[in-house]
Amino acid sequence: MKHQVTLIPGDGIGPEVAGAARACIDATGVSIEWTLHDAGEGAIPKYGSPLPDSLLESIRKNKVALKGPITTPIGKGIRSVNVALRHALDLYACVRPVKLYPGVPARYENVDLVIVRENSEDLYAGIEYDDGTPEVKELIAWVKAHGGKTIRPDAAISLKPISTTASERVIRYAFEYAVKHGRKKVTAVHKANIMKFTDGLFLEVARRVAAQYEGKVEFEDRLVDNMCMQLVQKPETFDVLVLPNLYGDILSDLCAGLIGGLGLAPGANIGDEVALFEPVHGSAPKYAGQNKVNPVATILSGVLMLEHLGEAKAAQRLEKAVADVLKEGKSVTYDLKPRNDPSSVGTKQMADAIIAKLKG
Ligand code: NAD
Repeated sequence: MKHQVTLIPGDGIGPEVAGAARACIDATGVSIEWTLHDAGEGAIPKYGSPLPDSLLESIRKNKVALKGPITTPIGKGIRSVNVALRHALDLYACVRPVKLYPGVPARYENVDLVIVRENSEDLYAGIEYDDGTPEVKELIAWVKAHGGKTIRPDAAISLKPISTTASERVIRYAFEYAVKHGRKKVTAVHKANIMKFTDGLFLEVARRVAAQYEGKVEFEDRLVDNMCMQLVQKPETFDVLVLPNLYGDILSDLCAGLIGGLGLAPGANIGDEVALFEPVHGSAPKYAGQNKVNPVATILSGVLMLEHLGEAKAAQRLEKAVADVLKEGKSVTYDLKPRNDPSSVGTKQMADAIIAKLKG
């Protein structure tokens, strides 16, 4: 059967890593019809929007997409297309396996955990009020009138909504993921000692859902600051982590650092209807167009996509080809070699080495 997949190359290093991933996926022999779509600032001149309707329609129709990273200007300017896509398609769970492959230079020996990040709310809901606006003045006055807390008049304000609905579905997803993948433990990460209502709600829901899996999946919880230290000290003691949006974003990069860096960290954004696969890393603009960066994070996102498409054998073959190239440590990009090692290869050459393993 031919699968229909929407491919968003993205910008910065996106087109290079997405192109490499597409070539590797095609080399598995799985038949895929790719529909290419632009997004981000580059799409504005042609479509009048960084997130064109035609792109959303394509993903809704195909139900599966592979995406390269897209730049979000810092501060003023367009809001994140990546966050907007997750909202528009209701991709509520962001799943990021964190696995250390043999041969990869890293400080640890045994890391194999999975981050499940809530994807729709928290400080990423995009509800912000700029300083000095009538809205922020009204909000400051309202807060003062309801509880007496004073916010400085020159403050900007972001809201942090955390709901039972969104928490429950992502936490349930984490437990179901654990059951399906034979994982033993789910750790809920929060700061409920300080944010008693928002993070408190997340923790309360986690405890309630966990009770339904008693005897099947172990449950524990950790404060997010303590979690950072424990991940650095003993990452091998964790299995599945479930977190609100912001903590999930930050800990994803921390965990990428445990397994050799962002060049190796894949991800999936999952909804009830649609799934979108993309690396954890961003568009690394300073390396754009240089055939330099590591394509593995996007190729492993392709492995997750093949599993999702029901192509388990092809997924295993592609993951093994990646693992073999990493283990040999010869045809790998600069990030997996000692600094200034002239023997590192480019993005395309690493993808070619993976394809050669697939075919060999
Ligand atoms: P980044 O992930 O793009 O890069 C940070 C650093 O990580 C790079 O300078 C590089 O040293 C390393 N790195 C990243 N990808 C690598 C790879 N494939 N191989 C080797 N090394 C790699 O983070 P940033 O610089 O903070 O963000 C750049 C842009 O990307 C921003 O506009 C940000 O908003 C955007 N972004 C997009 C996504 C997404 O599309 N989902 C995710 C994160 C950031």
